[in-house]
Amino acid sequence: MAQVTCSFCGRNKKDVDLMVSGISAHICNFCIEQAHQILGEEDKNRKPTKQPKFKLKKPKELTDYLNQYVIGQYEAKKVLTVAVYNHFKRLLQKHEDEDIRIEKSNIIMVGDTGTGKTYLAKTLAKVLEVPFCIADATVLTEAGYVGEDVESILTRLLQAADYNVEAAERGIVYIDEIDKIARKSDNPSITRDVSGEGVQQALLKLLEGTVVNVPPQGGRKHPDQKMIQVNTENILFICGGAFDGIGRHIAKRLNTQPLGFNKVYEGRQVDRTNMLQYVTAQDLKSFGLIPELIGRLPVVTHLDPLDKDALKSILTEPKNALTKQYKKLMDMEGVKLVFEESGIDYIVEKAMEYNLGARGLRSICEAIITDAMYELPSDDSVKELVIDAKYAQEQFDKSKFKKLQVA
Ligand code: ADP
Repeated sequence: MAQVTCSFCGRNKKDVDLMVSGISAHICNFCIEQAHQILGEEDKNRKPTKQPKFKLKKPKELTDYLNQYVIGQYEAKKVLTVAVYNHFKRLLQKHEDEDIRIEKSNIIMVGDTGTGKTYLAKTLAKVLEVPFCIADATVLTEAGYVGEDVESILTRLLQAADYNVEAAERGIVYIDEIDKIARKSDNPSITRDVSGEGVQQALLKLLEGTVVNVPPQGGRKHPDQKMIQVNTENILFICGGAFDGIGRHIAKRLNTQPLGFNKVYEGRQVDRTNMLQYVTAQDLKSFGLIPELIGRLPVVTHLDPLDKDALKSILTEPKNALTKQYKKLMDMEGVKLVFEESGIDYIVEKAMEYNLGARGLRSICEAIITDAMYELPSDDSVKELVIDAKYAQEQFDKSKFKKLQVA
């Protein structure tokens, strides 16, 4: 039998891991890999010739979609969808009409933890069909210090885009806990603030738009590593943070601005239960974000605290509401799960009591339902499980929540 050799490099079949045969030629795995790399390089160098393909969705369409999953937060939805819509219009802008360049509008969302900041960004990214990643600002440090460089954010985005640089360059990045990189004190001289102000400085360029060398596998940059160049000019950045204590700065500003106060809030009481609704760039500065960073996050919005009604809706209404998920799980077991109104109310009460926001709903439900989910798969006799206040309380009292008893 004739020797099978690679038609490109001449290697013998026995010297390679894989040989693919065509009509009258063969190619080995080494040559396939090399060809793939060449293709990648070529792609990178090629200027995008056509408009990116996507369907422009209008703000109201986007909001309709968000409403299926995210309860309330109308202000944030409006601001986000408009910013995203403009972001896409900007991407579609032809280079001929350069004289009016639409600038990008990165967003900063201020809202208590568990009120849906990440969830909003995530849900939005799903409908937009662009690469999306979540980065955590707390792990970032200034280059050269223990922690992650800000470029690692883009590594994530590249991974989300399957290393398609062009797609990543019009993606969306959500940077969580941006408040944690606030300046530590007003006195910058004593020690270097490498995880605070240093990171803010490092983020500036990224947010504004620049070409960044990104390590494809993340980690620290080192000289031998091959970098991928990513242009951040068209990447939309959404930042979010709880900004604990910012209410004080807001209150102070409202009180010390007699003119503005009287004018803006004339005849209207300041709603002290939801101070975040009045948040402005000025308050973010008082909190410890540097003015340059705030300047690159021109859209400021807030999320409302979740009250009982909101928590109740979150538990029951969204397309993938928790109660619907548990019903589905039980359904697969042949058990009909019924949540009585009183049971729902009990769960909501507890979530409010423990001050856990919507995130707490899940742990409380788990505490109540785990026993049933353990027992029922092995018990064919039970066909229905009703969760009312009594059942919920009994289960909850047995759970670790009760043992932990928060003050
Ligand atoms: P954070 O504001 O801290 O980023 P998340 O977005 O992570 O909060 O919210 C935690 C979870 O709580 C989400 O995964 C979601 O299931 C639920 N949740 C929070 N807020 C809402 C909301 N407004 N509508 C529906 N679900 C919500």
